[in-house]
Parts: sequence; structure tokens; C-alpha cells
Amino acid sequence: MCAHLKKQQGGKNMARPSSDLAAFRKIFAQAQNIAIITGAGVSAESGVPTFRGAGGYWRKWQAQELATPMAFARNPSRVWEFYHYRREVMLTKNPNPAHLAIAECEERLTKQGRNVTVVTQNIDELHRRAGSKNMLEIHGSLFRTRCMSCGHEASNYKSPICAALKDKGAPDPKTEDAQIPEKELPRCEQTGCHGLLRPAVVWFGETLDSDILNQAESVLDNCDLCLVVGTSSVVYPAAMFAPQVAARGVPVAEFNMEDTPATMRFKFHFHGPCGTTLPPALARHETEPK
Ligand SMILES: [Zn+2]
Repeated sequence: MCAHLKKQQGGKNMARPSSDLAAFRKIFAQAQNIAIITGAGVSAESGVPTFRGAGGYWRKWQAQELATPMAFARNPSRVWEFYHYRREVMLTKNPNPAHLAIAECEERLTKQGRNVTVVTQNIDELHRRAGSKNMLEIHGSLFRTRCMSCGHEASNYKSPICAALKDKGAPDPKTEDAQIPEKELPRCEQTGCHGLLRPAVVWFGETLDSDILNQAESVLDNCDLCLVVGTSSVVYPAAMFAPQVAARGVPVAEFNMEDTPATMRFKFHFHGPCGTTLPPALARHETEPK
């Protein structure tokens, strides 16, 4: 293990988290309210591109340059091409064993009168497609739109989302901007509105929806077991959630490809692809009814 982590072990309350699956399963079997925080790592295992980090480009740009209110104000056509591409890509991606294990666990435990809630940073709806129902999408969804004029929000699964975006959005750096006139971009269908629609996702520099944030806080305040899956725990506010839960003495189990800045605060850490580590962790425990 990394030297800097070894060093920390001498510090106060800084024991290396356990990777004892049987010990985790014992706690899991007793838990009544389970919160599962998920992030980009879960989507990455389904091959969903994030357009962040090394190699993560759409044309010449990364997400943090296009997923902003300013980029949309300046060039709504380009930003819509980017989101159209991301929506279309999702038609070729599927939930992976981690998504399915979470959804199956929710369905099973719900029948036992227990609660499982997913709090996700992901906007690709793969949890929903896997069958998760109890879900807070704190960064919104690629498949929702919000009207810039009247504020109306709606689900939208059209492909293409509008005629002008058909076959647009290619990610190749040599692709020219489509420069679609604003009136041909996705428009509001509320009677008498016809305002410009934007993706209902939380962009860089925007605050989270306070209702959803309050709901997430209440889920985390009331959970007696928390899983942190496929997130580096450095993205606010999820970064804050799990350490807060750990601070009140509730067991937190991290499932990730690597240690994160919060790892040392958690009771459990399971290393590896969550599609491999999560299914055995969330499978039916011998004490559960058949
Ligand atoms: Zn409208």
C-alpha cells in the first residue's frame, strides 16, 4: 500500500479500513436504511465517457468548458450538439453488474420493509434503467430538459431530440460546429411558451437543486449504513456526505478502483471494479427471508 497511507496509520483514528467482506455482510444484514452514493466510476464500467481528465475530449473541449451557463449563453448550438451526442451514446450503453446489484438489492430489501436509496452524481440514468426506483439524481439527467423562459422541466427521451440535431454532435476534433439557429434548437412545448430548452443538468458554477439536496441530506442523516461506490469523494457535495455519515459513527463502505482522500475515514474499503466487488457484497444474506 502507498507509503503516505502507512504513515497516516499512526495518526489518531486513522486505522486502515477493513476489506473483510464477511464483517461488512454482518452489518449489511442488520441495516434498515441503506444509502448508496454513486459516481462516475460506476458509469465508466459501462463505457460511458465523462469528457474529463486525460483523453476526455469532445472535439477540442472538455466537459468543464462546455457544461457551463456561459458556454450555453455564448453558443447554445455547440452545447446542444455536445449533449445530443451524449444522449445518443447512451443508446449503445447498458447498466453493468454494479447497477444491477444495487437495483436488485433495493427490490429485495423493500419487500422486507427496509430502505435502499441511491444518491447519484451520474446523469446517464443507468441506475433507472437497471431498475432502481428510490433515487436522487443530484446532478440532474441527460434525459431531462428545462425551459429557459418558463422553467418547465420534463423528461425527454427523443432521438434525435430535434430535427436540426439529427446526425450532429460528432466528437471528432475536425468536425465543424453545426451552428444551428436558436429557433431550431430544442424548444419548450408548454402552451404559448416556445422558449429555448437546456439540458436539466447541474453545470459547473451552478448550485444544486435545494429540494434534492435537502432530500439527500435527510437520507444520509437517517441511514445506518452508507456505501460510496465509484466516486473519488472529491466532488462536492458528495465529498461532504460520506465523511459526515462516518463522523456520526455510521459504517461507511467504499467500493472503488483506488484509495480516495476520504478512504481513511471509512470503516470498509473494497478495491477493484465495482461490477466485481458490489454483487457479492449486496447479495441475499443467509439471515434474509428466501
Ligand atoms: Zn417554456
